[in-house]
Amino acid sequence: MVCKLTSSGLNLCNCLNTEDSSQSKNTKIDNRSILINKNVDLIDYSTRYSRYGWGIDVRATYSHLPCQPFWTWLTGKYPKQLEPRRPIETILAPWQLILQLTWSWALILISLLIGAFVYKNSDIGLLIKIICSLFLFVIVTNRTRGLLHTFHYTNHGASIKNLRLAKFLGKWFMSIPIMHLTWDEYHKIHAGDHHATTYLCTDADPDQKFMKDHGFYSGMPEYLFWRYLVFAPFHPKAIWEHIYFRFLHNFIIPNRSEIISRFAFWTSLLTIVTLTNTIDIFVIYYLIPLFLITQYSSWLQHITEHLWFAVRPNDVPLFVFMSSLTWGRFLGRPYPKGTNGIKGIAYKIQWWAKILIIDIPIKLFSFMQDLPSHDYHHRSPRINFWSISRERAAMEGRPSKYGPMTETWGLLESLLIVRDQVCYGKGDAFGVWEWARNQEKRRNN
Ligand SMILES: [Zn+2]
Ligand SMILES: [Zn+2]
Repeated sequence: MVCKLTSSGLNLCNCLNTEDSSQSKNTKIDNRSILINKNVDLIDYSTRYSRYGWGIDVRATYSHLPCQPFWTWLTGKYPKQLEPRRPIETILAPWQLILQLTWSWALILISLLIGAFVYKNSDIGLLIKIICSLFLFVIVTNRTRGLLHTFHYTNHGASIKNLRLAKFLGKWFMSIPIMHLTWDEYHKIHAGDHHATTYLCTDADPDQKFMKDHGFYSGMPEYLFWRYLVFAPFHPKAIWEHIYFRFLHNFIIPNRSEIISRFAFWTSLLTIVTLTNTIDIFVIYYLIPLFLITQYSSWLQHITEHLWFAVRPNDVPLFVFMSSLTWGRFLGRPYPKGTNGIKGIAYKIQWWAKILIIDIPIKLFSFMQDLPSHDYHHRSPRINFWSISRERAAMEGRPSKYGPMTETWGLLESLLIVRDQVCYGKGDAFGVWEWARNQEKRRNN
């Protein structure tokens, strides 16, 4: 697939936009049903699970719980299958995008104000200061990365229709204040390179280069995989390269007018915080999360974002292979039902404890916004992030040139899948390549 870059900066990744709903719009199904396509072929498009997973639709075990929007936010998975919509139907109105930005910046600002209060108040003990600061770091990291992901969708043309307004909001509210790349540069390396079907998980993919820069390679020993997973972003070289990369792409590489805008913004901001004597607050509660903590937050999700270094077998169709390079990364585990008495109560306490201790921190720290549905973003990059979990669920189990969908529950399951590929060359964790081979055999018989 070739992604063309128009002069207006619009992404024309047509091939990736063909996970359209029209092919099966009137087919009501459940996730595990066997579907009948137009050729009366029996093809099973039901969701696939890895051998490390639960083998069931975990989200369905949450269906009796109150407050379903909360569980959708936390798990990343939408609870029911509605009619699919076309990407254009998911686009936001400008006020909705502005609301999203206001929400993010308001949370950042409130965090800075609370940070100032905690930092300067001598009545607050050191331990409380540290705990509060860690929490504020997570919130600021969550929202600055949230802005980056909002920029990502806006850059795909998946936020609002008005391109001029999209570029303006992208530049001044989602790029310059978080020292992100310029609109055009990001479009080139992300929509152009990362989303190119034949580039994904190759050396031409900038995201795979990022893995290589952190020491990962195909066939690496397992102990190195786990060691780099934990320590690579803390290496002084990685920290320096990250800061240097941002500096280059903000003040050296962009065109003159971009450099002037970025220089003017940052010198004004630094002047204000210096004159108001708040430079210490600004450094601790904004720059440290932005430059240091983001690195690790982003790293944890990046490692499991794709099946790095996977090579397409000749007998696996291109689009099926491409979609097998990513999967739904949901957070949670089956709700314990059916056990009564003390044992049942103990299971439920354990389940709730894992929600509080594992899922909520991982969601806030690393898997914000649309990241659990990154697989569906590669199938249909013009779906807006407000709708992506709903649209992903709508297409689950339906016929698609990308093959069946796949999903994991919990960070560890995804890590084991990536480990199997990177260290041992076992790429078909969900049996999707085998599924494609079987379809080919059926067609030939
Ligand atoms: Zn994208
Ligand atoms: Zn990706």
